[in-house]
Amino acid sequence: MRRGIGVLLTAVVVGLGCDNQMSEERAGVMGEGLKVFISVDMEGIAGVTTGSEVSSSGSEYQYFRALTTLEASAAVEGALAAGATEIVVRDGHGSKNNIIPDLLHKEAKLLRGVTDRPENMMLGIDESFDAVIFIGYHAKAGTAQGILAHTSSGNVIDLSINGVSIPEAGYNALIAGLYGVPVVMVAGDNWICDQVIELFGEVATVETKVGMGVAALGLHPEVVRERIRATTTSALRDLGRFGPYRLEPPYEMVLKVRRERSLYPGAERTGEGEFSFSSMDFLEVMDAFNAMK
Ligand SMILES: [Zn+2]
Repeated sequence: MRRGIGVLLTAVVVGLGCDNQMSEERAGVMGEGLKVFISVDMEGIAGVTTGSEVSSSGSEYQYFRALTTLEASAAVEGALAAGATEIVVRDGHGSKNNIIPDLLHKEAKLLRGVTDRPENMMLGIDESFDAVIFIGYHAKAGTAQGILAHTSSGNVIDLSINGVSIPEAGYNALIAGLYGVPVVMVAGDNWICDQVIELFGEVATVETKVGMGVAALGLHPEVVRERIRATTTSALRDLGRFGPYRLEPPYEMVLKVRRERSLYPGAERTGEGEFSFSSMDFLEVMDAFNAMK
């Protein structure tokens, strides 16, 4: 919750001795002054089916990056309709330079470029945001029927935190959760939609396609964009439904990889291609993951 009516509501709510949850609910109901963070990947965008379509060297890449930009813009439009006044779009795929700046809705700010910060696809998130949206997301490594299913790198077999096997959406939601910000809407193939519902419980989803391994049965991109607009708006208008995704520290990571890389300081090799690392600081866990993935 932010300026204007947000500040007013905070003052009223704090005055009444209510908690943040309450003020979030009020902001959601009023639908005003929201600050929204949109993290955008490419594999889950409507139409995308093969790796070359999301690789900058692929002949179809320019077309699919335009679809990616339009799908992100649909989420921006949905957020604006719910009263968002500040929207940051984080380009999260590959080189992080996929979204076409002047094709993106002009009310959003665009965060592009690679970082070595552990936030990575969530670079820019902080406690000033009210809600997070994931666009173009995909299922975790090992999801047999998922479209372009993987977890960060093709080398990862599985990543778990505190015994919970998670996709990229899982650790990105945990990063948002560090700042108390809930993930309210996820768009991607049916498999990632199932995975985030299982992890987060209360989360709105838009299925862009049904994954059948190397094939996908897809909805028309404009139909998907219509659903993203409507679902984003309804989720943000009902913000009190959603809570931040959190696991209890210490965060115990178990990482299984195909090809071993060098051991991150403090990590332990627990078997062939298997490593564990534990920390009270989740961002440090992400550093260890990024070094060993
Ligand atoms: Zn990606």
